[in-house]
Amino acid sequence: MICPCPLSSININTAELHRLNTIETSYFDHKYAVNCVAIQRGVLQQLLIETLNTQCIQLNKKVVDVNWGSCQSSLTFSDGTFLDFDAVIGADGIHSVVRNTLFDDSLIRHAQQTCWRGISSIQLPQEYQHQLNELWGAGTRFGFVRLTPNEVYWYGLHSSHLPITSRDLIHCFKKFHPIVSDIISQTPTDNVFQSDVCDLRPIASWSRDTVCLLGDAAHATTPNMGQGACQAIEDAYTLSYYLSQYPIMTAFAKYECLRKNKTVKVVKLSWQLGNISHIKNPALATIRNAAMRAIPNTYNLNQVNKIYKLASF
Ligand SMILES: Cc1cc2nc3c(=O)[nH]c(=O)nc-3n(C[C@H](O)[C@H](O)[C@H](O)COP(=O)(O)OP(=O)(O)OC[C@H]3O[C@@H](n4cnc5c(N)ncnc54)[C@H](O)[C@@H]3O)c2cc1C
Repeated sequence: MICPCPLSSININTAELHRLNTIETSYFDHKYAVNCVAIQRGVLQQLLIETLNTQCIQLNKKVVDVNWGSCQSSLTFSDGTFLDFDAVIGADGIHSVVRNTLFDDSLIRHAQQTCWRGISSIQLPQEYQHQLNELWGAGTRFGFVRLTPNEVYWYGLHSSHLPITSRDLIHCFKKFHPIVSDIISQTPTDNVFQSDVCDLRPIASWSRDTVCLLGDAAHATTPNMGQGACQAIEDAYTLSYYLSQYPIMTAFAKYECLRKNKTVKVVKLSWQLGNISHIKNPALATIRNAAMRAIPNTYNLNQVNKIYKLASF
């Protein structure tokens, strides 16, 4: 049985793991009657797939071209086949072929930060078991959260592009609390993934005729707020509601109208947070840390509430 790990807070700390700021996620559990949990993406996908009629999923169909029209749109696949659809929803990620075919002016922005992610086989001390902890250094950042009793998901970011042996990584975070090197060293090297951090500059429109974009294809964000997949899920919820109520192109217009402001704000805020958390100058990092300590809890809860809250249809 899958038992996702309940989370009660997200904490920002110094590199030595001294608390700077905290967001009590348990507050939102009570407010919205939800459960905030840490769960591995593959496990969540499996749970979702189990509730679907899997016959509606076709794998190994790579879209290479889109022809849009006001009555139907067609997709051409890399195997040479093509199909007509009443509506096409391009949920094909940050490098979306659908978006790039529809609009020729989208721009991927590189944050000049590289991110390693892994799952460590380690048991966390009791005090960290229901927390996501992020540690901010000067130009480096490390986060960790328990997934299962013996597994910890972690991510480390650095303001440059570095190779990825475990030794390099441990060196990169050598000034951090020792728990960081313990977590990294308990991760098999071939289970460490590296990707450069980037987002999509907000685009003018999300649809053309009967083709529409969703998730990262429409509004990819940097991972600093952990909101990319969350916003994609909110998109899907909103779009499916409007498609159940209105003709296709009206539904697309209403969906974009409801969702755009929030996703633009998330993209902007996440980019700014990435810059603040990666301040390289140690003196400025000290001032930043003092400012983080001074932020009142009520302000944090208000800000996060804006992210949790769904706009009304
Ligand atoms: C380092 C990092 C950490 C992150 N952490 C978080 C987090 O903590 N919380 C959070 O909410 N989000 C997080 N995200 C963001 C999250 O991963 C994305 O926002 C989310 O996966 C977007 O979902 P999507 O369905 O729009 O796109 P994707 O997940 O990118 O899925 C796109 C799908 O389309 C398929 N595809 C692509 N091109 C084609 C084609 N031509 N034809 C057919 N299929 C195609 C791909 O194979 C893929 O299956 C993180 C991202 C990164 C990089």
